[in-house]
This record gives sequence, structure tokens and C-alpha cells, in this order.
Amino acid sequence: MEEHLKQRIEQLTTELAPQLLAINRSLFEKPELGLQERFACELLGDFLRSRGFALRTGLGGLTTSFQADCPASWEGPAFALLAEYDALPEIGHGCGHNLIAASAVGAGAVLLRLREEGSLNQGRLLVIGTPAEETLGGKIPMLAEGVFEGIDATVMVHPETLNIARGKALAVDHLRFRFLGKSAHAASNPQAGINALEAVLLTFQAVNALRQHLPPTARVHGIVTRGGTAANVIPDLGEVEFMVRMPHREELNLLRERVVDCARGAALATGCRLEIEAAGLPCDEIRDNPALSALLEESMRDQGLSDILPEDPYPGSSDFGNVSQAIPAAYAFVAFAPPGVEIHSREFAAATVTPVGEKALLTMVRVLAEVGARFWSEPILREQVYLDFHQRREDAE
Ligand SMILES: [Zn+2]
Ligand SMILES: [Zn+2]
Repeated sequence: MEEHLKQRIEQLTTELAPQLLAINRSLFEKPELGLQERFACELLGDFLRSRGFALRTGLGGLTTSFQADCPASWEGPAFALLAEYDALPEIGHGCGHNLIAASAVGAGAVLLRLREEGSLNQGRLLVIGTPAEETLGGKIPMLAEGVFEGIDATVMVHPETLNIARGKALAVDHLRFRFLGKSAHAASNPQAGINALEAVLLTFQAVNALRQHLPPTARVHGIVTRGGTAANVIPDLGEVEFMVRMPHREELNLLRERVVDCARGAALATGCRLEIEAAGLPCDEIRDNPALSALLEESMRDQGLSDILPEDPYPGSSDFGNVSQAIPAAYAFVAFAPPGVEIHSREFAAATVTPVGEKALLTMVRVLAEVGARFWSEPILREQVYLDFHQRREDAE
């Protein structure tokens, strides 16, 4: 990218650094679970408003969501930055969403300033606050409400222990099976009972019998949430939750039905009634946009990151997958925690406010700002992003 733009991004990031580090630390000190992120929503919203954004909250029916818009008169390709800010029970910001939030609003402030001062002469900008990534998948109701309509590209950078250019995510369905039986005295009259715990156990056995025949990319994992209340009572209620994952939505739909059949078989064998419901919203896989991913990777290299893995070797799932199905999107990981410090741990959370974490935050700001600046200022690159998106869409259909 042009040297003067790069220098300007550097200067603006340095100017904003004290505020962004303070935001990062405040979020770390006051972690909030999904859909309860009132402090985060207000803190980030206040910062964005103070920089000149117009703010709306409560999108997608989620009180802790927000959308910050540039002046309505701005024209050109619309670029969006996404902030996540939910934490994990007991371990706080063990997924580093404080870094994600601070870097997204920081890059938004840098890009807004570049446009205001005329360093860039076209482009629309949004910073979207998407709650409850870890639980509900807040981007999904926001997508359904049309929050992402009219956006031409979005990128996210997640902190990690490795630098990874193309973040992947598996499609996932989260199911709850409830077995309804009949309680009876377990010693004096067991023949009168219908044992819901046996249905739970058989479901796990059936799923485990299925495992040998699944492709190695499949993930099926579950827990027992109800399994009886007393050893001398035949359990009349058994409940399990399963998450089923595959690299692609179409193959996941087939696998999900086989897992549902395991529960149906268990219900039939035991005489229980089975209720099936969704325990979470279904996430789709990340649809890679090669041009946008390449831009993100170049920006990472430009900002001095090296040892960048081309693809994510350990994909989980994210509601960002659903966004990437709807608009051109790219997702990358920036290393800051030393290998051995596992994501979703207290150690990972603690690392977000060390000098290494703070350095990563400013790197993330510059990477995101560079992607936005180049997306606005390089029409050929932008054209390729659109072509890639529509090509992938045709391939998928
Ligand atoms: Zn996480
Ligand atoms: Zn995360």
C-alpha cells in the first residue's frame, strides 16, 4: 500500500493507543457473558460516538448490539468492522474478545479520520457490535434483521497463539434431546417404570457406534444435562445436548439426521417419548473469499507478522461463518500468547493485558485499518473480491 497511507495509519494508531489500551483493560477487568454485555456496549459506543460515529443499539432484538455509522453523505464501497465483546463463565476474556473489541473500534476510528482528512476520498464505514459470539451467535439474528445488507466486505482478526491467514470454521448444529419416561420405585416396582436414563446411555452408545463410520473431519460431542434425581427412583426425565460439526453445511445436515436417529432409536428401545429442540443457533462454515483473505494476509505481513500459517489447522465454529455466506468476508488469527497457553483459559485472558497483548492490539488495529484503506482505494482488488464471492456462491449452488 502507499507509503503515506501506511505512515498515517501508524501515526493515528499511536495517537489512539492510550484510549484503546484503556478500553482493552476495562473490558478485561469487567468481563460480561453473552447478552449481558451492557458495560462493554456502552464503553465501545461512547468511544465511537466521541470519534464522530452515529450510533444505534438493540439490533437483531439484542439489547447489547450496536451499529456505528459514518456520516450519511459518505459514498462508495461499504466496509464493516465487527466487534465481539462477550466473555466466558469463570475465566473472563479467555477468548480475547477484549482485544477484538478494542481493535475493531480503534481501526474504525483510524479509518474515519483518514476519510475526514481526505487521505481517502471514498468509502462507507460501519463498526458493528455483535454480542454473544460464544453462546447464542448474535450475528445470526442480526443477519436475519438485515444488519449486514449493503455491506461490501468485512474482516475480523482474532487473537491466538499462532498467526493464521485464513481462519476456518466448521458448520455446527447444537441439539437437545429430552427423553420422557415414567418414574417408579427402582426396587419394589421397577417394571412399572420407563427409564429415561437408559435412553440417554443408549444415545451415547449409538453415537459412539456411528463414530467409526464418520469422516475424520466430523465432530460429535455431547454432555448429559439430566439423568435422574435419586438412585432409588427410575428416572422419568433424561436430557442430553450434542454439538454436531462438519466442514460444510450440506454434509452437516446429513450427519445431524444420523445423530437424531441415534436418539430416536434409544427412545424406541426404552419406550420413552423423545423431544428434540435446538440448544443454540446453527452456524455455517466460513466461506473463504480468496481475494479478501490475501489482502488480510498481506496486511499482516506489512505490519511485521511472520510465520503465518496459510490455513487454520484447528477450526472451531463461529457465527462469523453465517456472515461470510451473506457478504464477502475474511477472518485471520494474530499470535500473541506463547504456544502452550490455550485459548479459552485464564492464562490466555491474563495475557491480553500484558505488554505482548497490548502490542498485539495495536498490530490488529493497523492490520484492520490497512485492509479497509486498501479496499476503499484499490478498485481492481475490490472487483476481485466481488468476483470471488459470486464465483464461490455459484460453486456452492
Ligand atoms: Zn471462544
Ligand atoms: Zn473468540
